[in-house]
Amino acid sequence: MSAAPPPDAPAGNFLRSIIENDLARGTYAGRAWRGRPGSAADHAGAPVDAARIRTRFPPEPNGYLHVGHAKSVCLNFGLARDFGGVCHMRFDDTNPEKEEQEYVDGILDAVRWLGFSWDALGSTHLYFASDYFDFMYAAAEHLIGAGHAYVDEQSAEEMRANRGTLTEAGRDSPYRDRPAAESLERFREMRDGRHAEGSMVLRARIDMASPNINLRDPAIYRIRRAAHHRTGDKWCVYPMYAYAHPIEDALERITHSICTLEFEDQRPFYDWVLERLADGGLLARPLPHQHEFARLNLTYVITSKRRLKQLVDEGIVSGWDDPRMPTLVGLRRRGYTPDAIRLFCDRIGVAKADSWIDYATLEIALRDDLDPKVPRAMAVLDPVRLIISNYPENASEQCTAPRHPHRPELGERRFRFARELWIERDDFSAQPPKGYHRLFPGNLVRLRYGYVVRCTGCDTDANGRVTAVFAEYMPDSKSGTPGSAGYKTKGVITWLAAADALAAEVRLYDRLFTDPQPDAGGRDFKASLNPASLRTIAAWIEPTLDGCAPDEKFQFERHGYFVADRRDHRPDRAVFNRIVALKDSYPR
Ligand code: ATP
Ligand code: MG
Repeated sequence: MSAAPPPDAPAGNFLRSIIENDLARGTYAGRAWRGRPGSAADHAGAPVDAARIRTRFPPEPNGYLHVGHAKSVCLNFGLARDFGGVCHMRFDDTNPEKEEQEYVDGILDAVRWLGFSWDALGSTHLYFASDYFDFMYAAAEHLIGAGHAYVDEQSAEEMRANRGTLTEAGRDSPYRDRPAAESLERFREMRDGRHAEGSMVLRARIDMASPNINLRDPAIYRIRRAAHHRTGDKWCVYPMYAYAHPIEDALERITHSICTLEFEDQRPFYDWVLERLADGGLLARPLPHQHEFARLNLTYVITSKRRLKQLVDEGIVSGWDDPRMPTLVGLRRRGYTPDAIRLFCDRIGVAKADSWIDYATLEIALRDDLDPKVPRAMAVLDPVRLIISNYPENASEQCTAPRHPHRPELGERRFRFARELWIERDDFSAQPPKGYHRLFPGNLVRLRYGYVVRCTGCDTDANGRVTAVFAEYMPDSKSGTPGSAGYKTKGVITWLAAADALAAEVRLYDRLFTDPQPDAGGRDFKASLNPASLRTIAAWIEPTLDGCAPDEKFQFERHGYFVADRRDHRPDRAVFNRIVALKDSYPR
């Protein structure tokens, strides 16, 4: 994103206040930055950092980003932009098993699509935690040497049993006080592949009686014989997330390390690691500080990569970009715009207490974004024929309509009026309920941008299903002509000339789950899958849509917003997704 201020003035939030305070007090002023991540020695003597703050967005490349990540992206990149800082795009790829290049590429695409860039102050800030493995390993050896870490050879069960509980202190491992030299030797053997997975771990030596279980000698390195997507087979020991993350932040000279509330209890360990390594001269001060905010919980939506992956792997959805998925690729294919998602993130703000945001909030932001932008068109989704019996058989004439009701500069659309039209099946009723103003025998209705017609009756098949509706048009009632104002009709309906309309496949999407909190409290989210989350219909669309490109969006009048599907729409086969209906039909 450019350095220009965002169109919506940023709402105040506690993180902004923290940053303002830090800037006022000069907490991070005078930090040296040598132009790329590095240790204390690397940064020593380098110029003062031109970035006033540094934040980072640190996904693990084990899936595609979802709408929850968008909140974190908007927050981290947005704060950096607003405060003259830089936001690093960093892959937290310290866990070899589940990470893949496909996800790296997908995540970069998604962040770019959201409108953010990791190019700032004349350089690019794309980093991989795996590039710091050498440093992390050396730092671990330093901790061992300083008496702050030891190799524990207890079994996993023993370690679990000795960890204690919330009310009970843990018990020291018999290996806790072994000489540093012995731990160092074992640690090197671990690195050299001389021990089996799970046979030993490197642990921080803190306090087995700490009321914070995260400080009871947490593991910092473990053995994993797995190929890493970037370092291949170079390593068979990998750092634990809680140890790796603060180091990544410090090497990159992050000032404000913003994460979700689950990590609040990890903050003391985050600080413990950094203080030890800064005291040891390995990391430069001032050190980064961790700040927690409430994650996004959105009703009817799952925001866990692992569970979303399950939906993909089990074929419940067609892929990560299925238009029902809350992934950014899914939302994009569904027709969501980056502007709408950023608007949503601005509106929900940032708080320090967990809450659920109503899905409708996202849809309202979407409509607010699309309404002024997208052109209008008519479409008939559930068609029945309307025969204008007094209109000449082989005749037709042109009708016009604005492309957008409030933006005359977008010009006009042109389509034909003729004797045979398509209308919506529910725009006719043989026995109209009270208050029904559309077509029923004897009633006058305006065909939008066309003529006023009087309904004269219908044909039905053997089952009583309407096969055609009949009407007569008023030749002096054409929209936009002088005589038309004399007609007062309560009903206005949309239509298309049968000879003129284009056939389209229209996919009507609904929420994927019927439960507003599908996976809360450990519930089985697959039990509340909405069987009607996708309905595919054959529809007719306005001829002006001929030749529209994938991703083009329209408001189909009276129906909602639709997008030409970016995967399946082709010149010879129109495929549209319903992005969102015009109005929210869900109870709240
Ligand atoms: P998942 O469980 O879906 O894999 P995660 O938090 O493990 O989520 P990461 O790839 O580690 O996924 O997340 C990258 C960043 O996005 C982290 O800083 C994380 O805090 C943030 N994030 C993830 N989910 C949400 C959410 N629902 N709301 C806000 N931020 C989120
Ligand atoms: Mg994670």
